[in-house]
Amino acid sequence: MTELATDPRKISREAPQYNATLIRREDETESLCYVWVRFDGDPTPFDAGQYMTIGVIADERLVQRPYSVASPPHVAGSDGYEFYVRLVNGGQFTPLLWRLPVGHPMRMIGPKGKFLLEPDDERTHIFISSGTGNAPFVAMMRHLLKEGGPRPVVFLNGVSYERDLGYRSLVEGWERSREYPVTYIPTVSRPKDPANASWTGRTGRVESILPSVLDELRLTPDNSIAYICGNPDMIISAEETLLARGYPEAQVKKELYWPKGKEPRGAAAA
Ligand SMILES: Cc1cc2nc3c(=O)[nH]c(=O)nc-3n(C[C@H](O)[C@H](O)[C@H](O)COP(=O)(O)OP(=O)(O)OC[C@H]3O[C@@H](n4cnc5c(N)ncnc54)[C@H](O)[C@@H]3O)c2cc1C
Repeated sequence: MTELATDPRKISREAPQYNATLIRREDETESLCYVWVRFDGDPTPFDAGQYMTIGVIADERLVQRPYSVASPPHVAGSDGYEFYVRLVNGGQFTPLLWRLPVGHPMRMIGPKGKFLLEPDDERTHIFISSGTGNAPFVAMMRHLLKEGGPRPVVFLNGVSYERDLGYRSLVEGWERSREYPVTYIPTVSRPKDPANASWTGRTGRVESILPSVLDELRLTPDNSIAYICGNPDMIISAEETLLARGYPEAQVKKELYWPKGKEPRGAAAA
């Protein structure tokens, strides 16, 4: 059992495997936070959409997990690599991460992953995410902005509660100022919960609102490409919708955060 308050594992402060440092942390809620990890030496280049694996030594074992990078590649040497992480109660690594003070050494390796933007793609990009699955899309948009070539994006993010909408102010700010051509479509799956009392936006799981979004925005295989990231059930369902509408498989890119069938205890969204 690795519940946060009772986790007895001893985290090592020193270890030969450590090559990076937790340099910053910001909490979005009690169970969602942004962390920044920087290599102690030179940064490793990566492409927006890829992930790094971060870990610490606990009870003399390296405990590590992969996380999509949310920051753009060009700031890796200064700001480090930004991650948006959900605490999984009963999980192995995230309860350790939650206990880690800023300044603590860590192990970081990578990059890995093929969840990447196509070169020179002018089609509308449909970014479909559940929970923290929005992280690689934030990296992609930040990178495209830096490169001076933002591509049109329809950005769907599904969460249980309004408060879990990470990066909301960033993306809404882009949309409002038109700094980035994005249509932001957040949705909450538990509209009747008192925590969502002030919510006036879309309701339902992200995969369930996808058909109406495609219809309303007239998105078709001829004018768009889809990227899906997060919870495996959501990904499978969203992919079915897209394939049924004629999107070729190569036009539906996927990043699964865990294998299908391994649901979290307490059933949190990704
Ligand atoms: C390529 C890749 C990129 C990833 N990027 C991110 C990311 O940017 N942010 C992030 O929070 N997680 C991300 N994950 C998931 C992450 O690697 C861990 O699985 C997660 O943090 C749980 O680790 P743990 O050791 O605490 O739990 P474990 O003991 O490993 O338990 C794993 C179980 O936790 C549940 N779980 C895993 N991830 C989540 C999640 N995000 N939300 C809710 N339940 C989950 C699943 O049921 C899974 O079977 C990514 C996974 C992959 C494969």
